[in-house]
Amino acid sequence: SDDPAPTRTDHHEKGITMDVDLTGKRVLVTGGTRGIGRGIVLALARAGAKVVTCYRSDSEAVEGLVKELAAIGGDHHVLKADVSDPEAVARLVDETEARLGALDVLVNNAGVISHVPFAELPLDEWRRVIDTNLTAPFLVIQKALPLLREGSSIITVGSRAAVVGIPLRAHYTAAKAGLIGLTRSLMKELGPKGIRVNLVAPGVIETEEFEKASPEELERVQTRYRGLTGMGRLGRPDEVAGAVLFLASDLSAYVTGETLHVDGGI
Ligand code: NDP
Repeated sequence: SDDPAPTRTDHHEKGITMDVDLTGKRVLVTGGTRGIGRGIVLALARAGAKVVTCYRSDSEAVEGLVKELAAIGGDHHVLKADVSDPEAVARLVDETEARLGALDVLVNNAGVISHVPFAELPLDEWRRVIDTNLTAPFLVIQKALPLLREGSSIITVGSRAAVVGIPLRAHYTAAKAGLIGLTRSLMKELGPKGIRVNLVAPGVIETEEFEKASPEELERVQTRYRGLTGMGRLGRPDEVAGAVLFLASDLSAYVTGETLHVDGGI
């Protein structure tokens, strides 16, 4: 044909096709209204799952997600719950039980990023970042345990940063590295119950945060990060979602305790 061969950029911009069937699976995803979490929620809903997700503060992103889920169709719920607050987590899990009954998949995605030189890092900021990125998955997993059963899958969103290290993010990388230990121990504690526990560790993913930057700043950041990856480009939320679908499905029935890096080869 006269059509030019597709370029790597064409392929990247088209998005990926996900054929995993999760019809009827009951799923809770924390922090699903923006960025990677939103990509995960939409991919799970399109795969046929019933999804409960939560967010921390009201925004246009919440309404946007509700509309997109309504367009996909199915049994989905978007709830307000700060996962760093134990009482809010208890209410979230109770509401999830009331709406879905039990859980086949739990995705701990909610997280906050922060950039502060270590020498100036205030204890409050250390605590805020540890609370949301490490303590929240502990709270959510522990509270949701009675809803999980043989064959259930727990997936937590970690970060490539946990093993490569990043300046100005000692608190963030410490929290994300903590998730590796949490995952490895739960692999052994929950394995006998038939519950799998894994991490997905994204590299640099283009989320709405990037859209806030000026064109010059965006170009500078993109060039810097592109150069760090083997594939020469940044990732997209749906590419992280692809790894989550794999770990949520029976395709990964014998995979537990793993960290699946989704980073284009950093
Ligand atoms: P975003 O800031 O784009 O989105 C975060 C989502 O989580 C929002 O829906 C936000 O809701 C929600 N959230 C944040 N804190 C809480 C909370 N305490 N309780 C409930 N919901 C909360 O983040 P990303 O998509 O960039 O990141 C998602 C995950 O991926 C995080 O764990 C992050 O560490 C990890 N990650 C991201 C990378 C990237 O390049 N983007 C790279 C590696 C890891 P609200 O809008 O209400 O605040």
